[in-house]
Parts: sequence; structure tokens; C-alpha cells
Amino acid sequence: MSDWNMTIGIECHVQLATKTKLFSPADNDARGREPNSVVHAIDYGLPGMLPLLNREAITLSIRAAKALNAEIEEISRFDRKHYFYPDLPMGYQITQMYHPTIGAGSVTVPLLDGNSIKVRIHHAHLESDAGKQTHYADHTLVDLNRAGTPLIEIVSEPDMHSAEEARAYCSELHRLMTYAGVTHGDLYHGNMRFDVNISVARAGSEKLGTRAEIKNLNSFRSVEKAAEYEFKRQVELLERGEKIIQETRGWNDATQKTSSQRSKEDAQDYRYMPDADIPPVVITREEIDAVQADMGMLPGEYRDAFSNLKIDSSVVNTLLANQSHAELVYRVMNDSAEHAERAANWFASVFKSADEEGVDTSGERLPSKEDLVELSRMTANSEISSTSAKEIFLALVAGEVSPRDIAQSRNLIQISDESSIAAVVDEVLADEASQKSIADIKAGNDKAIGYLVGQVMKKSGGKANPSLAQKLIRERL
Ligand code: MN
Repeated sequence: MSDWNMTIGIECHVQLATKTKLFSPADNDARGREPNSVVHAIDYGLPGMLPLLNREAITLSIRAAKALNAEIEEISRFDRKHYFYPDLPMGYQITQMYHPTIGAGSVTVPLLDGNSIKVRIHHAHLESDAGKQTHYADHTLVDLNRAGTPLIEIVSEPDMHSAEEARAYCSELHRLMTYAGVTHGDLYHGNMRFDVNISVARAGSEKLGTRAEIKNLNSFRSVEKAAEYEFKRQVELLERGEKIIQETRGWNDATQKTSSQRSKEDAQDYRYMPDADIPPVVITREEIDAVQADMGMLPGEYRDAFSNLKIDSSVVNTLLANQSHAELVYRVMNDSAEHAERAANWFASVFKSADEEGVDTSGERLPSKEDLVELSRMTANSEISSTSAKEIFLALVAGEVSPRDIAQSRNLIQISDESSIAAVVDEVLADEASQKSIADIKAGNDKAIGYLVGQVMKKSGGKANPSLAQKLIRERL
């Protein structure tokens, strides 16, 4: 396997968070709605209907362009991409082939080991989504609620060379697009979908191999797993002397395998042509400046700000998975780096798996900055243990307030008063059962102190400050 290199390019469809669809006044949020109830005559492609461009989609594209470090075309246009499918009533998709709104750009992608790679963006174009088909044993149902939903498709250059890099890129795109306010980023509802192009070639070879495209992946994990699988599959075929077919493949989450869907069409098969119903989109420098001046901090700016904190890069990545978490810790940091470090670690430990699964945590309650600082202070003063601090943090996220009240009501305040712990320590040291450990410690086996600290904790009902207990035991021996 080490004789082979993998090359990966990714196309990502991002569902824009506009109020209405790209060319019709129908609601853009169809979650929980009856099938075919959020559809306008334009989305049905009824004769005589004229699409009218939703300017909000252009505003969001301007925001996306900033997040992608990309140029914006002063004049862009829409084209028709023809194909026949039951979920495409017009018989063509309205998209941008020749003059996309967003030009070339680049994304700096942090990796788990603390390094980063640069992935160039070829361009990003605006387009409308198709409807959805659900297949049953003997029939298929078509739901057009999603038809006409605005998307931007972000097309990367083939700048990734491992499954891990592909995953990291997708997850950084998710951060960029949610921070920029371009999308709600709800992966479960398909707000971002990844098409992953993969080829392999002999190490050292200048030429890229024939690629296969894995369509419609909707989680970071499946991007990574599909790339791993596809690398193995292609290498095995090539080593047997067989050829890779250029084709579209699907990913099966249950079997963790890709399988062939159809051979890949070329652009000419779609008979692209300018859409005569839609005037060119003109974007002025003034509009770009006004929209982009209004944007908040992007993930890279938070990373720079957090780089002075003593926290792991994986903690930073998890923290940044949710913009409101990053923003809150940033505000805490303006008070004190130490409080911010604790808060960052709490967020990372509680939300790590949600980040890995791409679960939308934006609906979670956010602790107040004051409560976070108070919790950090109580930990620093050893009023509570670090385990209790995490328990209280969870309570705050679940909607409770005031760390001190929570600690008191759950009986989590530690005894940090020396004289009361000293009394317990003396009691433990006098105990018959402790004598062996005492002898062991005196003989140089320092680990034996663990038993004595444990006894102090037990006798104090778990409320003694363990480091203080240990200090008092040492003083006495
Ligand atoms: Mn597309």
C-alpha cells in the first residue's frame, strides 16, 4: 500500500440559510412539513413560470467567498444543466457552469496532529437543488419540497492525499460556512453533502490515476471511511493488473463499502446552455465591502486568538465546531486566560463526540460567561474537584444556573479547611488497617500513599480536598 499515493478532490453542496428558495417565494425550510406542500409553481416547472433570483442567496455567496478567501465575480450567470429525472420537473437544473459567482480561493485546514494543509478552491457556484425520491418495493414517491433550494457547490482542487485530510477539510468547511452564517450546517438534514473524487497512482508518478466519485456523503466520518475503503479497493484492482473505471459510486454506511452506481457523464452530456430567463448577476465592490464588513470572526481568527492558551490543538478544534462555544470562550479569555483554558477543556470533553459525528449542537443551552468564570474560580480555589467541575458544567449546559448553588445542592463543595481534614487524616493514620501502608511508604514505596488518601476521602464522604489530604499525610509521616 505504501507504493501508492491517493489524490482526493471534494465537491461540497452547501444548503443556504435563505428564507425562501433560489428562484421562487416558497419557504426554504421544509423540515417536518408534508411532502409537496412547500412548492411554488416555479419549482414545479409549470409552463410560463419565470424564475426570479433571490438576492439573499447572493448576499450569502458574498459571505461564503470571504470564508473561502475567494474572489467574487463582478458579473456571473446562470446556466441550464439538462438531464431527465423524476425529481427534476423542469428537465434541467439551474446552475452556473461558465461564469460562477465565486472564483478561486483557498482554505487552510488544521489536522489532528497540529499541522495544517492548504486546499485550493477551484471555484464555487450557485445552483438550485432537485427534489427527493423515496423508493418502495413496487413504486417510487417524489417529494418536491427540496426542489429549488439554493445551494452553493464548493469545488476543491485535488489537494488532499489521505482520508484524514479529506475529513479535516470537510469539517473545516463546515466551520467556515456556519461561522459565515451561510448555512445552518445541519448535516443530519443534508445541509452539507460531500462528493469525494478519489484516484490512486504509483508513488512518484506524475500522472493522476483514473478517479471514482463517491456521491452524497453526509458526515465527516463517512467521508473518511469511504476514502479509506476506496484507496484499498483501487490499489487492489491495480495490483491485480485491472483498470479503474471512471464512475460514480455510492457509500453504504451499514456495510462500510462503496458500490458502483453509474458510469460518469461528461459535461457535454448535460447540454449546458445559458438560462435566457435569468439576467446576469451584477455585484459591486460596495456591496461586497458592506456585506463582508458585517461578518463576525472566522475559525482561523479564533485559532489565532486561542493560540496563546495552554490547550491542545484537538481541544481547539472541538471547541470551534460550534461557533457559540468559541465565541463564549473568547469572551472568557478577555477576562483571564486561565479561566478560558478550563472552559475550553470542559466544552471539548463534553462535545467531542458530537463534533466527531457532526451532530448539530447549536440548540444546546449556553452557560453564561459569569457562571463559567465562577465555576473556573471555584475549581482554582479547590472548592470543588475537577470531576465535580465537569458535573456542574454539564448541569449548566442542561439549563441550570449558578455553579455555587449547584455545588451546594449536590453536596460537591470540598473540605479545604486544613484543621477538619487533619482530624480525618489523624484518624486514618491511627487505624490498624493503615499500618502496612505506612510501613511501605517509610520503606520507600511512595505509591502506598494512594490507599491512605483513599481512606481519607472515604471517611470524609468524598468531600476532602485530595491534594490537601495527601500533603497532610506526608507532613505526618
Ligand atoms: Mn451540483
